Amino acid sequence: MSVEEIFAQIARGEGDADVVYESEQVVAFRDINPQAPVHVLVIPRRQIQTLEELTPEDGDLLGEMFTAAREVARREGIAQSGYRTVFNCGPDGGQEVYHLHLHVIGGRPLKWPPG
Ligand code: 5GP
Repeated sequence: MSVEEIFAQIARGEGDADVVYESEQVVAFRDINPQAPVHVLVIPRRQIQTLEELTPEDGDLLGEMFTAAREVARREGIAQSGYRTVFNCGPDGGQEVYHLHLHVIGGRPLKWPPG
């Protein structure tokens, strides 16, 4: 099974994932290979491959994804210390899984710029 199929299953609420938050349009679950003490992925339930596929009508969905990121940060206790939200887009952006996902990373000081 491809990772995209695994994400699609999680999006439908059927997959094997450590879910930390869900709402009508999104699911947030722990990354299998965390890059920091907190590393959660927020995905839409709808199948969307990349940020490039979004249209102006998806404004509500994007808002719900960032609201989910903030809720994850609160629940994980990193809202005050700070965290990073990242969409990797396409090959040069480092995107490996083509089911849209917003990384929520924190729990340690993060370096900038990324590699
Ligand atoms: P990307 O590079 O596409 O922005 O990030 C994909 C992320 O998905 C990576 O951080 C990777 O560790 C994570 N990932 C890949 N396969 C799985 C999986 O089967 N389950 C979970 N929970 N995360 C995965």
